[in-house]
Amino acid sequence: MMKKSDMNEIMGGYKKDEIAIGTIGSHSALNIFKGAKEEGFRTVCVCRKEDSIVYRKFPLADEIIFVKKFSDILRKDVQQKLRELNTVLIPHGSFNAYVGTDEIMNGLRVPMFGNRKLLHFETGRERQREWLKRAGLILPRTFNDPKEINGLTIAKFPGARGGKGYFLASSTESFHKKAKDMVKRGQLKKSDVESIYLQEYITGVNIYPLYFRSLLKNEVELFGMDRRYESAVDNLGRIPASEQLQVDINPSYTIIGNIPVTIRESLLPEIFRMGESVVRVSKKIAPPGIVGPFCLETVITDDLKIFTFEISARIVAGSNVGIGGSPYSYLNYGDGMYMGRRIAREIKQAINEDRLDETIF
Ligand code: AMP
Ligand code: AMP
Repeated sequence: MMKKSDMNEIMGGYKKDEIAIGTIGSHSALNIFKGAKEEGFRTVCVCRKEDSIVYRKFPLADEIIFVKKFSDILRKDVQQKLRELNTVLIPHGSFNAYVGTDEIMNGLRVPMFGNRKLLHFETGRERQREWLKRAGLILPRTFNDPKEINGLTIAKFPGARGGKGYFLASSTESFHKKAKDMVKRGQLKKSDVESIYLQEYITGVNIYPLYFRSLLKNEVELFGMDRRYESAVDNLGRIPASEQLQVDINPSYTIIGNIPVTIRESLLPEIFRMGESVVRVSKKIAPPGIVGPFCLETVITDDLKIFTFEISARIVAGSNVGIGGSPYSYLNYGDGMYMGRRIAREIKQAINEDRLDETIF
């Protein structure tokens, strides 16, 4: 297991005036690179050949390390190269999805901006739930067994797959029927069905507030807000009900993109309290708690109750709607502030104050 002291030692060998900001070329990499460059850093992209067109068309990566697959970031030579370039890595969703948090905890000897332990924490649904509960947030109910299903329920797979293959069921019978159909169609493995996670479906609208917890300023900032654009659920309304019944449509939740939103100002006090209490609990779970970006995934009902069903303890791709600035970042920073840049600014401030050690893990 990688220790904080190992990272401090590696950082000790870094040239402080040549720190580069690096990440895997996907998810929110453009956001991260643009922000890094605007704050004066060099950038490093761990990139698959087939994706490199993105970084040619948007030339924001100063160094490109080509790999076959993202998990090759764990290769000794790739890690060596990253350290030679004095790289601080910014973890995002592709780290969780394609490298794995066990592997990151145990095998990635490159300093990371952000708390590795919490990154690992967020990938376990039960661990996550405990965290959110301790923070006093309102959570959807969960069912341990399909037999317990009463009312509209969303069935989820273990791990982050961006909503792919989720389905709804309203009774034990409909759950088994749908799961069986999906196995038959090859959309689901038999083993998936046993480890499926069943959660009360909350009827309302999705709101994803994005925060930044500054360790240096000891402050939680609200940075932006988005809603997701999911296929096919978000466009089912375009198909008349009569047709839906005939072809027996099942909504699916594959994330395609994000849409910026703002919410009623009267909801903001609660949104702030939620962010602060999640950070307060994170300090107990894994000191010094969340470092940098995090996001709560919420559904807000028509009686204005905010249900939280997930937390991401890292930059989320929803932050991409704020590249260049969002309404909430504008309120604090004026023009041109967004998550990638906020991260780089924190790192720059840490370097200037000789506190970089505190922010890397
Ligand atoms: P990708 O590199 O696009 O495959 O994304 C890596 C992981 O992050 C996957 O698990 C995706 O489902 C998730 N992800 C990618 N883009 C978004 C997004 N815009 N919103 C939420 N999750 C995303
Ligand atoms: P997740 O993978 O948990 O981020 O969920 C993917 C999508 O499923 C979300 O963006 C929501 O649209 C939907 N969703 C997940 N959990 C719930 C819930 N408990 N109630 C309503 N919608 C949900």
